[in-house]
Amino acid sequence: MSKAQIKNPFNNMCYVLRVLSQYRCQHIILDHRQKVDCNSNTCSKSASHVPREHSCLTECTQRMGNTQDLIRPNPNFSCNACHLAGF
Ligand SMILES: [Zn+2]
Ligand SMILES: [Zn+2]
Ligand SMILES: [Zn+2]
Repeated sequence: MSKAQIKNPFNNMCYVLRVLSQYRCQHIILDHRQKVDCNSNTCSKSASHVPREHSCLTECTQRMGNTQDLIRPNPNFSCNACHLAGF
């Protein structure tokens, strides 16, 4: 999955995306987390944040947006625990 496919629902705010897999057994397991960059130069969390001198605390976003969950169905497999238990 490429990062470019993820739409950032926040303006000027980075956030953490939790990617979860829903397995055949219906268990939902955290796959990984990734930071989604808002690419704003007025966000202190962004890689595009301006390197110039500025009053960051007043001009820039200082916090991350709410963590978002993305659940990806994975109907061909059971989760690890169920797999080990023989399901
Ligand atoms: Zn940002
Ligand atoms: Zn700043
Ligand atoms: Zn399971």
